[in-house]
Amino acid sequence: MRTIGLIGGMSWESSAIYYRLLNEQVRHRLGGLHSAQCLLYSVDFADIEQRQRTGDWDGAGQILATAGQSLQRAGAEALLLCTNTMHKVADQISSATTIPLLHIVDATAQAIQRAGLNRVLLLATRFTMEQAFYRERMQRLFGVELLIPDAAEREDIHRIIYQELCLGVVRPESKQRYLEIIQRHGEAGGQGVILGCTEITMLIQPGDTRLPQFDSTALHAQAAVDWMLQPMPQATPSAG
Ligand code: GLU
Repeated sequence: MRTIGLIGGMSWESSAIYYRLLNEQVRHRLGGLHSAQCLLYSVDFADIEQRQRTGDWDGAGQILATAGQSLQRAGAEALLLCTNTMHKVADQISSATTIPLLHIVDATAQAIQRAGLNRVLLLATRFTMEQAFYRERMQRLFGVELLIPDAAEREDIHRIIYQELCLGVVRPESKQRYLEIIQRHGEAGGQGVILGCTEITMLIQPGDTRLPQFDSTALHAQAAVDWMLQPMPQATPSAG
C-alpha cells in the first residue's frame, strides 16, 4: 500500500470523516485488519480562516505548502488536501513538493461524468462558489457546468458551514434551508448537486434529495484509496 499524506484541520470535523472513510474503504477492499497507511498534518483552522477572510491566500498557501513538505519528508507519496476551498492554493502546494496532489475537483468531476451529467448545483463556501478556481477546472478539464446559488442562498450556505458545521453543530433548520436550495435548483434544471465543502456531508445524506448527490469528501477519500491500492510500479531490470 502507498502512503497518503493528509493536509487537514480545515476543519478537523471533516478531517475526522476523511480518516474514517480511508480506513473503512481500505478494510473493505483488503479485508481483515487492514487499515489506511497515512500521515496527517492538521493545521490550526482559526489562522487559515482569518487569512481567507482577509484575502491573505498567499500566506495560507505558504502554511499549507510547508505542511505538504513536512508530509513528504515524513514519507507521504501523495497529498490529499482535505478541503475544497483551499484548493485555491493547490498549485502553491504542488510547486513546493515533488509528490502528486490528488485534486478534489478531479475526483468529484469524474463521478459526475460517470453519472452522465454535465450541469450540477454547487454548494460550498462563498470562496468556492464565487471565485473562478473551482468552476474553471470543472468546466475546462471535465466539461461540467456549475449552477451557483443566488446571493442570499450563498450567504446562508456559507454561514452554516463556518458557524455551525465546522464547529460540529448540525441543526435541522439548517438542513431544511439546504434542502430548499437544492430543490429550487433541481426545478431550474440542475441534474445533480455537489456537496462541495467537506463538512456538508454532516448535514445532507444520500436519501435526503431527489437529485443525485456528489459528496466531495467521500469521492476524494475514494480517489485516495484507489491511488493507495494501485499496484506498485515494477522496478525495470537494468540493462546488461
Ligand atoms: N472544509 C470546507 C471546504 O471544503 C471549508 C473550510 C475551509 O475553508 O477550508 O471548503
